[in-house]
Amino acid sequence: MAGILYLVPTPIGNLGDISPRMAETMAQADFIAAEDTRVSLKLLNHLGLKKPLVSYHRHTTEAGGQAILNRILAGETCALVTDAGTPAISDPGQELVALCAQNHITVVAIPGPCAMVTALAASGQPTDRFTFEGFLPMNKKNRRTHLDSLRGEVRTMVFYEAPHKLTATLSDLCDVFGPDRPVSLCRELSKLHEEIIRTTLGQAISLYSSDSPKGEFVLVVRGAAETAERSATLEDGLARVEQLRAQGASLKDAVRQAAGELSLSKNELYDLALGR
Ligand code: SAM
Repeated sequence: MAGILYLVPTPIGNLGDISPRMAETMAQADFIAAEDTRVSLKLLNHLGLKKPLVSYHRHTTEAGGQAILNRILAGETCALVTDAGTPAISDPGQELVALCAQNHITVVAIPGPCAMVTALAASGQPTDRFTFEGFLPMNKKNRRTHLDSLRGEVRTMVFYEAPHKLTATLSDLCDVFGPDRPVSLCRELSKLHEEIIRTTLGQAISLYSSDSPKGEFVLVVRGAAETAERSATLEDGLARVEQLRAQGASLKDAVRQAAGELSLSKNELYDLALGR
């Protein structure tokens, strides 16, 4: 009889978040598949467990996945863990789950720590409808195309980002959604320096202009207002640009702000404002 694949979440910063069920699942598994075996070894030592560990990370998902599947098909039980949080959420695991599902293996996900859910819950932004965006594409063109596709998004949006890329990402988000869009910067969740800053994209950029961001972040961005922003036309955008220009804004800033506020394409609005 085939074994089971358990997805075991691990703390995102606080060892007190290890639940009895997580520990018991790891204790009972025949082997542990880990994103980084050195990180998981520390956790196993903390729990006083000695278990066979195999590596399962981004670069080994195909070959590693098949090897893990073969062991489960032969009757072994596997606990999959990543460095922190829930496996398969912006972490290795989704391909292994798909492979096991295709092969009629039982997959059991143990509920537990996940930075996305923790940040969203504490963000103060609407939580009834949201979209998890994870990490934005690194390639500049793909990133821009992806952000453009979110222009009219009315649901709350949740992004992951590494600290050294945070200011660049805030600036890209500000270009698309405008400086007045509310954002919650959820930093170092469940750790000593946990902090949630509820501000706007424009103010968030100023905040980090002198101090570089430190620690891990989740960005929770409020969606576009459902009414005017959805139905705005380029002509509405032009009218708003003229209004902002009359208040002293440069053409570039006025276009950026109007496009963000009304969920319009900045390039199209700029061309129209220039009379092209
Ligand atoms: N699978 C994990 C989960 O369930 O949350 C996510 C792993 S992903 C590779 C790492 C990203 O999660 C970080 O870049 C950061 O955006 C977010 N993250 C992880 N731990 C965090 C924490 N303690 N506070 C804030 N963000 C965190």
